[in-house]
Amino acid sequence: MDQAELRRQLREQLDETQREQARLATLRKRMQYEQGDLSYPSETGGWQLGDVDLGEYLARYWGKRLVLIITPAGDAPTPMYTCGVCGFVMNEVGECPRCKLQAIEFEREMQQQQAERTPDVFEQVPNDHSEINCVAPQSQN
Ligand SMILES: [Zn+2]
Repeated sequence: MDQAELRRQLREQLDETQREQARLATLRKRMQYEQGDLSYPSETGGWQLGDVDLGEYLARYWGKRLVLIITPAGDAPTPMYTCGVCGFVMNEVGECPRCKLQAIEFEREMQQQQAERTPDVFEQVPNDHSEINCVAPQSQN
């Protein structure tokens, strides 16, 4: 192989490399990149990626041939649910543990009060009024 032939092959390879780079640059310009936490349902009832409604997003490419590349990049934070009664924040929908505990304690107190005989309110008031200390509210001046 003489030097002229070697030079010709080298130039051909360079041209091929440049064409490949130009093709990749064109693809890169066309490429769309979206990142976010995947959730369902969106406001329109479809899939949502961050702020992007994927149904609306894909509708832009109606009639096109696509290459879709998906890369899981970690776990999305689990959605939080708030108890409508006490405001306790939970990881999943279900019975609120704080309200359940309060209901159990309330029931236990009621059973305890029924077990002991609840004295009459009038029996608790002393007859001579000596144990009652009435304090008038103080003015702030
Ligand atoms: Zn609650």
